[in-house]
Amino acid sequence: MTGQHRIVVLGAGYGGLAAARRLVRKARSAQITVVDAHSTVVERVRLHQRAAGQDIPVRDLRELLERKNIRFEHATATTIDTTGRRVVLAGSPALEYDTLIYALGSVADVESVPGVAEHAYSIATQDERRPAVMPRSVAVVGAGPTGIELAAELAESYPDTRVLLLGAEEPAAGLSPRAQAHVRRTLERLGVDIRSGVKVIEVTEEGVRLADGSLVEARATMWTTGFRVPDLAARSGVAVDLEGRVSTDATLRSVSHPDIYAVGDAAVVAGPGDRELRMACATALPTGKYAADVVAARLRGAEPPKLRFRYVVQCVSLGRRDGLIQFVHADDTPGRMVLTGRTAAWVKEQVVRSTVSASRP
Ligand SMILES: Cc1cc2nc3c(=O)[nH]c(=O)nc-3n(C[C@H](O)[C@H](O)[C@H](O)COP(=O)(O)OP(=O)(O)OC[C@H]3O[C@@H](n4cnc5c(N)ncnc54)[C@H](O)[C@@H]3O)c2cc1C
Repeated sequence: MTGQHRIVVLGAGYGGLAAARRLVRKARSAQITVVDAHSTVVERVRLHQRAAGQDIPVRDLRELLERKNIRFEHATATTIDTTGRRVVLAGSPALEYDTLIYALGSVADVESVPGVAEHAYSIATQDERRPAVMPRSVAVVGAGPTGIELAAELAESYPDTRVLLLGAEEPAAGLSPRAQAHVRRTLERLGVDIRSGVKVIEVTEEGVRLADGSLVEARATMWTTGFRVPDLAARSGVAVDLEGRVSTDATLRSVSHPDIYAVGDAAVVAGPGDRELRMACATALPTGKYAADVVAARLRGAEPPKLRFRYVVQCVSLGRRDGLIQFVHADDTPGRMVLTGRTAAWVKEQVVRSTVSASRP
């Protein structure tokens, strides 16, 4: 023990990197260590582009962090020993902490429907496989933003591939009627076959089985129906909600362990109107920064600031030349204004680029 306050940031995604970046400036006397199971970071919000064969930036985490005097531990965390205040790592000595920032993000939910883990591809993390050659027919399951972005990207990049988009609801069902109409029109222009109101109950080598018993044939199935969080917090006895996300107070502090904070996809955070913040880069970045501000304030013995958070837009790419920017109210419910077409594609690209500078230490 050096006398320095030891802050360990678990996870080098948007939330973890934003927290580390802020801590370097605001908690100068602390020793900051970031742990990640990967040695590189990719822009997760571009993984649909990678699935469509495009190159996306890959950055070396050690290089990125160590030039800012942030220690990097390339290891998988297996348990948090909350009594001994240590993170147990696979294949490396345990790391002691005084404050822990839990930012382990999320992965694809491949467990809830039979056959997904064995037969479907997903695009939730940099580890996912993708078809070596794009087949003649692809079923994209899930008509939320990730499924829409993927279907559009595949259809644009592989015009000879038949892309089917299957969802329980209309594509972009949570957005305004104008936004939904634009998404549908653009997907149809790109040649995507949309089937809404269907429930997939099994994935097989031949395609996907629907609740009515019919088989929708597809040479590859891409699964985008939702994310689930790692169970590390739950297994370590940290209070979590039913989905395993860390339960936090208004300062993002764990309600069960005051030396642990949680941010991003792996945290339950109350937003405007007491509505839970959604799993998004647009949530992970500000919550990462905010947790760092709180930790730094408490280290100085100051009152922590309040979380000032509001959503402004939801951005959906529709291939490289079209997109949708839905303006939203503070609590993320859709407003009336939308941007579409090339302007929207340009705005979305600027937003994606800004996430890199916001999380680069
Ligand atoms: C294709 C796609 C498009 C998206 N588009 C958008 C968008 O347009 N706008 C938007 O707001 N959001 C978007 N998202 C969602 C967004 O990417 C996530 O909400 C965001 O990445 C969450 O950030 P995070 O910091 O919580 O976690 P992550 O970015 O998931 O980072 C978690 C990190 O923890 C590490 N980790 C996990 N477990 C361990 C362990 N046991 N030990 C060590 N390290 C571990 C992982 O390696 C990872 O680096 C998109 C997601 C996808 C997949």
